[in-house]
Amino acid sequence: MASLGIPRNTIEILQKYNFNFQKKFGQNFLIDTSVLDRIIAAAEITEEDCVLEIGPGIGTMTQYLAENAREVAAVEIDRNLIPILEETLADYDNVTVINDDILKVDINKIVEQRNGGRPVKVVANLPYYITTPIIMRLFEKQIPLQSITIMVQKEVAERMQSGPGTKDYGALSLAVQYYAKPEVVANVPPNCFIPRPNVGSAVIRLTRHAEPPVHVEDEKKMFALIRASFGQRRKTLVNGLTNAPELGISKERATAALEEMNLSPMIRGEALTLEQFAELSNRI
Ligand code: SAM
Repeated sequence: MASLGIPRNTIEILQKYNFNFQKKFGQNFLIDTSVLDRIIAAAEITEEDCVLEIGPGIGTMTQYLAENAREVAAVEIDRNLIPILEETLADYDNVTVINDDILKVDINKIVEQRNGGRPVKVVANLPYYITTPIIMRLFEKQIPLQSITIMVQKEVAERMQSGPGTKDYGALSLAVQYYAKPEVVANVPPNCFIPRPNVGSAVIRLTRHAEPPVHVEDEKKMFALIRASFGQRRKTLVNGLTNAPELGISKERATAALEEMNLSPMIRGEALTLEQFAELSNRI
């Protein structure tokens, strides 16, 4: 089957099946072979690897993954794409397409079935409307993974890499950096997709830490603290925490914990590092 990274081939298959793009599924298909080559290179796919692809679309990147990996499992929500994938992936016996929602399917079960529970590599050109929930699900469900190499909106890639005191710093930065090392691999302009998205895109690789970089007694509590501090960005950290009833933290307790850490009671959450959030969570 001819490469779908070549625009003419993508248009031909879309016309053959009379495919209608679904905006609600964030469908922007890649039509640039050099971007595809760079994603595969950044993900360092080898013949040993089992790859989980999220949203294969018409199978453009899936073909590249199938050529390079031992095995590919691809989860696609849109059932109209399934007959197309059957045709575009017909040459490969190492691809399993699963027609399901990545936010609902049991990903651990897929990893168990396809790779005996050993760590997989996630590679995807993500649907942008659910980038953060997908990433959080992969981490929080403790999916065995080596790395995640994904196309995301450029601003989201920047947020994942940001540190304290910058406008992009937030709950996503802290979650990503707690679990992984983020590196932007490529910036990708809108004309590399059909249809063109309204935003710039970037490929980012998240390499999972063998051990988290900080010691936290209760991860759930730390992330609840983080969410409460960034939920009200303009407020001081103490107000952010005490305004979140689910945390049950008194103003005195929050102020005392900051004092013990030599931090001002007027400090804002956006000034705290991951280490400081971990310490705060362990103290409260
Ligand atoms: N991988 C293809 C490519 O690079 O050309 C398509 C990428 S497109 C940006 C995102 C894909 O994710 C679409 O095929 C869309 O139907 C699919 N998708 C959207 N929401 C999904 C979900 N919740 N679970 C699984 N797939 C989803």
